[in-house]
Amino acid sequence: MSHRFRLSGEKRQRHLDAIAKRLPEHLARLSWSAETLKQERQEKLRSLLRHAVEKSPWHTERLTGIEIETFTEADLTSLPIMTKADVMENWDQIVTDNRLTLEGANNHITRKLRDPDAPYYYLDDYEIFATGGSTGSRGVFIWGWEEFIEIACSTFRYQMRDEPTETLTGDRLLAVVEAGETVHGSPFVFSVSPDPDTRVDWFPASTPMKELIAQLNAAQPTQINGFSSAVQELAIEAVAGNLKISPHRVTSNSEPLLPEARAAAKKAWGVDINNMWGCVEVGLIGVECDAHQGMHMTDDMVICEFVDHDNQPTDDPDKIDKILATSLFGTSLPMIRYEVSDIAITGKELCSCGSVFPLIEEVRGRADDAFIYDGDIKIHPLVFRTPLGQHPHIEEYQIQQTKTGAVISVVCAGIVDQMLLKSDIETALIALGMSAPEIIVNFVEAVQRHKETGKLRRFIPV
Ligand SMILES: [Zn+2]
Repeated sequence: MSHRFRLSGEKRQRHLDAIAKRLPEHLARLSWSAETLKQERQEKLRSLLRHAVEKSPWHTERLTGIEIETFTEADLTSLPIMTKADVMENWDQIVTDNRLTLEGANNHITRKLRDPDAPYYYLDDYEIFATGGSTGSRGVFIWGWEEFIEIACSTFRYQMRDEPTETLTGDRLLAVVEAGETVHGSPFVFSVSPDPDTRVDWFPASTPMKELIAQLNAAQPTQINGFSSAVQELAIEAVAGNLKISPHRVTSNSEPLLPEARAAAKKAWGVDINNMWGCVEVGLIGVECDAHQGMHMTDDMVICEFVDHDNQPTDDPDKIDKILATSLFGTSLPMIRYEVSDIAITGKELCSCGSVFPLIEEVRGRADDAFIYDGDIKIHPLVFRTPLGQHPHIEEYQIQQTKTGAVISVVCAGIVDQMLLKSDIETALIALGMSAPEIIVNFVEAVQRHKETGKLRRFIPV
């Protein structure tokens, strides 16, 4: 069954109209001074805390005794940390609209999964999302009407600045290669275009590659927006001559973007990818502008604390273990010092585009992608990613951790020496302290994507 025309309807159109109306205001923010940005964060932080104390019983209890009217960013460290487990255990007490319950939200998700044509708005204006996350533990999150408008504006304001509508000509089609289900946030956010004349079509990332290529060859999109792994696969297919399209803008999101994906997109289309980073809990945290010097942090909407394993602030790239994110615009399910398990490295310089919004240099693999073996030996994904990702004939791979090593599924586009790959990785693991690692390399036709989200889970811990 085709999923392709489900993101429509009168209400969706009203939402898109509201985004178009608000985008210019967000565009103007990109020229803010550092001082204005600071003031905005200060004001929004206090109003968030006021709202949470007034409307969320769970936050009221946790925030007892704080002085909101004099509260500053520096005081955030005095507040408790919030995890996904906290959210799932206390959902009904955290939400600020007492009509919302986790049970009701789950029923809505089930309804949407069973019937793709079921309404995707819940209780009039809400959108409900389930996320598997890289740890596999399930989370249920929610965006209100206003929250979605804000997330969409923060996602597309750089594109609006860097690619003014009046400079665009000809027929324009944005191909959105994202999750195939509306229980995931990606089709909602990324099926938005700041250019009103760009048509948008949705191609679920779980579509078999041959079929997807045929559909894209027929559609001839001028822009692509997709999961990083999907963009990488498409670029490789284009280099191989199977995918024959000429997009002028390629945007990736939702998964770490590997250097080999950037290289393939440049080779195939002469395009530098605009990468994005965020999560359903707090929206877009980083958006790459056309200067391509890193991702601008959404500093007017999200406060990020970079912390080490013990939640102590650090800017040492080798010590950053996670981000504590406080959403300044999230009102439905307030996120205050919410633990995001990505390792993001901050840039030292400002972007040459002139925006004072700081840069994230890179987002390394999810912190919890690391494999832990007996004896507390922690193996970073790079140990696998380097030999696999750099191999000229390896198109795609997926690694399932085992007790003593890993089973690696590899999609090849040429000769790959199975034994050499096995021994290279085993040697690397021995160097890192493992005594007798066992690596199995299997050649496969395609790697499995997550059924609900369409994402490729590249590293699967035991
Ligand atoms: Zn920039």
